[in-house]
Amino acid sequence: METKYIFVTGGVVSSLGKGIISSSLACLLKARGYRVTIQKFDPYINIDPGTLNPYEHGECYVTVDGHEADLDLGHYERFTDIKTTRANNVTTGKVYQSVIEKERRGDYLGKTVQIVPHITDEIKRDVKRLGNTGNFDFIITEIGGTVGDIESLPYLESVRQLRWELGDNSLCIHLTYVPYIAAAKELKTKPTQHSVKLLQEAGIQPDILVLRTEKHIPTEMRRKIAQFCNVAPDAVIQSVDVNSIYKVPVKMHEQHLDEIVLRKTGVAIEGEPHMKPWLDFLDKMERATETVTIGLVGKYVELQDAYKSISEALFHAATYADRKLNLIYIHSEKLDEKNVEEKLSGLDGVIIAPGFGQRGIEGKFVALKWCREHDVPTFGICLGMQCMVIEFARNVLGYADANSTEMDSRTTHNVIDLMEEQKSISNLGGTMRLGAYDCVLRPGSRAAEAYGATEISERHRHRFEFNEDYRKQFEDAGMKCVGENPASHLVEVVEIPEKRWYIGTQYHPEYSSTVLSPNPIFRSFINAAIDYSATKENKKK
Ligand code: GLN
Repeated sequence: METKYIFVTGGVVSSLGKGIISSSLACLLKARGYRVTIQKFDPYINIDPGTLNPYEHGECYVTVDGHEADLDLGHYERFTDIKTTRANNVTTGKVYQSVIEKERRGDYLGKTVQIVPHITDEIKRDVKRLGNTGNFDFIITEIGGTVGDIESLPYLESVRQLRWELGDNSLCIHLTYVPYIAAAKELKTKPTQHSVKLLQEAGIQPDILVLRTEKHIPTEMRRKIAQFCNVAPDAVIQSVDVNSIYKVPVKMHEQHLDEIVLRKTGVAIEGEPHMKPWLDFLDKMERATETVTIGLVGKYVELQDAYKSISEALFHAATYADRKLNLIYIHSEKLDEKNVEEKLSGLDGVIIAPGFGQRGIEGKFVALKWCREHDVPTFGICLGMQCMVIEFARNVLGYADANSTEMDSRTTHNVIDLMEEQKSISNLGGTMRLGAYDCVLRPGSRAAEAYGATEISERHRHRFEFNEDYRKQFEDAGMKCVGENPASHLVEVVEIPEKRWYIGTQYHPEYSSTVLSPNPIFRSFINAAIDYSATKENKKK
């Protein structure tokens, strides 16, 4: 079958969840046996989100091939179990960079280089890049931003041209918002009409409208929207708020979104999507009554999108353990010796978050000391693992000034340090150890037990490393280096076997956890937290 291109645009306001709608459609098409991928086009000038502060766009996601990506790619993978790559995320910065490089090389043969056609041609090429591999039946392209934004214009023009060139092999889904005005007790359709008009002005007629709303939109009202917006009545779909994003594929299927897409792109509709494993997951989620309480110690807790993949991975693991997840965000800057007991004693397990820089780091050490001494299941991820190493060096090995050279470049006990070959690099973009690397786990270690394997591969995003010079001292004192990269021998996993569950990973296992394939080390951590909570209960009795 010819590759089909589905464009997803958004109107009225941002944060409507284009990523979730795109992911839900992909989930349904995949469950029908199609090969699907989703790509995100972001209108900002940054080359990639790697240099963005998490307060700007939330977490930076990392693909297996080492691209620092928009967090929506995390949703794409969690909903579809299909790995994304750098080709799945394009920004205006990347488009311009490529065009400017071509101009400098003389590729445009003396022509004036312009937004139309040079930038738009570049965007069109990028849209079709994955389609041209022949690996996919459906390419879903999410256009970031909101229709009407100045920076979205070249993308909309590219979509207009592509719709024209691809004909029935493409369609446009437009996501809008239908607000409920409490004072008038009414849903309002005008913003949707205006936003469709803006899209039409750009030369794009949406084929399907998805209306985000807090309340059910009556059929009559949807018919009215269909009529004013030139869309077939059955292609006006509502997306009413639900308590879990993972229910959205089901809600979309109930309104035949997948069938409408197949019909409009000329694909025969056969049978039903195979959603049994997904529905089983939802069933477990609905049926869980008992809770597991996890504390996440980090410095970006005001913005929970900053830890999106971690909270989702914890949620997957808790659901498979038949528990509701009670995730408590604990501000590392506000944690000290005086309040640590009060803040941490009610928890069944503690995660020490990844991060960069000095801010909030001392609170992480306070939390780790308390967790280690009270034998609470503790999971350090990336910077969290580095903090585990530093805390151990300070309080067990007795090196009071132990640190990472990221925080103190002059420390005499640089237990976390840069590798020699990194020391001369000064440019911040893309100088990190990024993407999936192999890791060999020590047989019999808790980490190997968790994975049920000794050879694994997980994704990284960091510059600093465990300092090899100290390995023997840590091992002798009880912190074991149980995971290492087979090629470079860099330490990837540490654990204290005599504790209940005290593991740090230099990699980010949260990036690879999906609904249908939850990450094993998160599952092991959650199980340990559940066991620990049972022992606490028994003590009380
Ligand atoms: N700042 C640390 C490093 O660069 C850890 C990074 C992270 O937690 N992602 O090595």
